[in-house]
Amino acid sequence: MNTHFMKHLECVLCKKTYPIGAYFTCPCCGEKGILDVVYDYETIKKFMTKDTLKQDDDHSMFRYRYLLPVQTDHMKDMLKIGWTPFYRAHRLETYLGLRKLFIKDESVNPSGSLKDRASAIAVLQAIDQGVNAVSCSSTGNAASSLACHAARMGIPAYIFVPKRAPIGKVNQLLLYGAHVTLVDGDYNQTYQLSKEAIEHFGWYNRNAAVNPYLVEGKKTVGYEIFEQKDLRPTDWIAVSVGDGCTIAGIYKAIYDFKKLGLIHKIPKLLGVQSEGCAPFVEAYQTQSPLKKAEEHTIADSIAVGVPRNPIKAIHAVEKTHGAWIAVPDENILEAMRLLGTHEGLCAEPASAAALAGIKEALKQGIIKPNESVVMIHTGHGLKDPVNAQKAVGSPPLCSPELNAFIKQHESLKETPHD
Ligand SMILES: *Cc1c(COP(=O)(O)O)cnc(C)c1O
Ligand SMILES: [Zn+2]
Repeated sequence: MNTHFMKHLECVLCKKTYPIGAYFTCPCCGEKGILDVVYDYETIKKFMTKDTLKQDDDHSMFRYRYLLPVQTDHMKDMLKIGWTPFYRAHRLETYLGLRKLFIKDESVNPSGSLKDRASAIAVLQAIDQGVNAVSCSSTGNAASSLACHAARMGIPAYIFVPKRAPIGKVNQLLLYGAHVTLVDGDYNQTYQLSKEAIEHFGWYNRNAAVNPYLVEGKKTVGYEIFEQKDLRPTDWIAVSVGDGCTIAGIYKAIYDFKKLGLIHKIPKLLGVQSEGCAPFVEAYQTQSPLKKAEEHTIADSIAVGVPRNPIKAIHAVEKTHGAWIAVPDENILEAMRLLGTHEGLCAEPASAAALAGIKEALKQGIIKPNESVVMIHTGHGLKDPVNAQKAVGSPPLCSPELNAFIKQHESLKETPHD
């Protein structure tokens, strides 16, 4: 492992430090003692400045190699991950009555979601450490991205998914040649089984929250947002939350870029959950510790009843003076239609939830109409065709005759879309 710019690991609970590579979680605090990678910012400052970034022609997440826990040599063989498009969303701004809305499109990553950024780190670390296989449990995207990059690099992937995982994502795993175990249980049980199997077989563990290095991959989405916005952060960044690793990663991006003197303002983080599974929102509203939640939502990627990275996620919203918000499934379906019809973007429910959250936050006065917001579009809509159909229904059937079409065309004009 290239430890050159990493100083040590630090426990989020007891603040004890450990050498890089020593543990996944704090031996004193157990699973809750998630570790955080601490970098040597003074040295990195010499290599990474506003100017070097401008001149860097690596248009992938590896332009931030000095802030990543991997060796450089294997990166060039990976598929292109990151440096995804950053759009101004004029038509949605008008619809929402919001001054500025930007969309970071993570759906164009190789496996179709933001998870590619974390899986890239997992696969590269497995190579660096000479581990012969990678593994994880997931509701879908973490697994499909791991299988994708493992296939590219020629490493077997062992994947555990709960049986409710959408068929699109399971198919994707099989197409990438992963060894898939469909678990007859919920996400928590699936996670437990994977944990035991990984320990038993000694595979590389890509379970995002307990692996301190994966957030380091996810944080690159934050760096990109800042760079693509000329290092002048927006007032808000909105993202949907399941385990809490993505929002924790964005906070780490803010922290790193502030430490390096690259940004000066701290954007507020809006953590969005589905009402059917909102442990973070509930804890925030009742000012009480996180409690296990039911998993009743169409947004499977954020249906996490027992979040694995609670401390870092809560910290991220607290430190940025952000907010937590929950949205019902109907609003998520509406947001899927809005992204499609207003911006030409196809989002899976968990991704569209972020837009539904922005709309609700505006309604509640949490986000002000004169503020600027980035929505992170975390995953492609084609991954979940069943819920896409729930959002839009089926088109009308027409007999193959012009007169029939004209008749149908006239009647359709009277019932316009959103
Ligand atoms: C994983 C995921 C999220 C949430 O990320 P967490 O790290 O679990 O909070 C949001 N959207 C999509 C599409 C995802 O796959
Ligand atoms: Zn600890």
